[in-house]
Amino acid sequence: MTTRSACLVDAVHFLGPYDREEARLAERGISLRVCYADSPQAVVEGAQGAEIVMSYWHPFSRETLAALPDCRLVLRAAVGYDNIDLAAATDLGIAVAHSPEYCTEDVADHAAALILASLRRLPQVDRLMRDGGWPVEEYRPFHRVQAQTLGFVGFGRIGQAVARKLAGFEMRVLAYDPYLTTEVVQARGATSVDLNTLLAEADVISVHVPLSAETRGLIGEDALRRMKPTAFLVNTSRGPVVDEAALVRALTEGRLAGAALDVFEREPLAPASPLRSLPNTLLSSHMAAYSLDARDDIRHEMCDTASEWFETGWARKVVNPQVRERLRR
Ligand code: NAD
Repeated sequence: MTTRSACLVDAVHFLGPYDREEARLAERGISLRVCYADSPQAVVEGAQGAEIVMSYWHPFSRETLAALPDCRLVLRAAVGYDNIDLAAATDLGIAVAHSPEYCTEDVADHAAALILASLRRLPQVDRLMRDGGWPVEEYRPFHRVQAQTLGFVGFGRIGQAVARKLAGFEMRVLAYDPYLTTEVVQARGATSVDLNTLLAEADVISVHVPLSAETRGLIGEDALRRMKPTAFLVNTSRGPVVDEAALVRALTEGRLAGAALDVFEREPLAPASPLRSLPNTLLSSHMAAYSLDARDDIRHEMCDTASEWFETGWARKVVNPQVRERLRR
């Protein structure tokens, strides 16, 4: 087995070159190979012999993981790791780590922008202006931001950062996160409530849960029917957390005021998706994590985790810690 070797397997041309990562890891005696793999076969070929397989976007199925006998750590350059078969990795003795910190501020900025733009009706007004209009009645009535209730579904790093950034707008803030204590939620400026209370009372709901078996379809027909017809849904987490067909129905039938979405069930969003033509949607292209600063920070976060792995034999950002007992030698 090649020791102290890492492979960035699905490098992205517009994010390269990767000489800074190569130099940084070389200082610590780690050799980095950069591949531009774009298929499972190319991933398997490119990553052979590497102890750490770093990845931006490629899915890692059981088959792909099984075909990498030297891999001990898959290191994902993202917060979400829902595209990696975690159970298979654990079975095979492979640790999986993610990069949870590099884009917290950026996603929170984006979610805050979507929340404010929705509450101020900017997408609708902008469209009418572009069509030659001078909207006066079309966007009315609505209340001031300060009078609105903001609800978070999932109140971890990003949800809390959105709450911190929007604190100056003095909204009432609710949060549903069954994994946090009431005290922690309170200390971060929100009131802890159950999901149905949040759905019934919030004027804008911002979703920040990871995609898991538990959260897939969490915002479905039933949840959407519990929301106020004047409310907005904002999703910067993962597309499949929201049932898109049910959302389109709610928007079309006037059961929801609008939706602002950065993520979709299938990406890229189909050109013919009804979400593109509805008047009450605000759409972006899974770009919430992007900024030049986040691009720098991900490089540091990845290199730090790779270095930590080789220096200590483990990494704090591993998401399947139960693998430790059975980690491949
Ligand atoms: P985090 O782990 O810090 O917070 C997630 C929170 O969700 C946790 O507090 C957790 O307790 C809570 N949670 C888990 N299951 C839940 C459930 N069933 N109901 C309610 N709450 C639940 O993660 P984060 O950094 O805040 O990121 C959240 C998600 O945002 C990521 O998992 C990722 O999928 C997504 N994300 C998207 C982009 C983008 O570009 N749009 C970028 C980064 C992250």
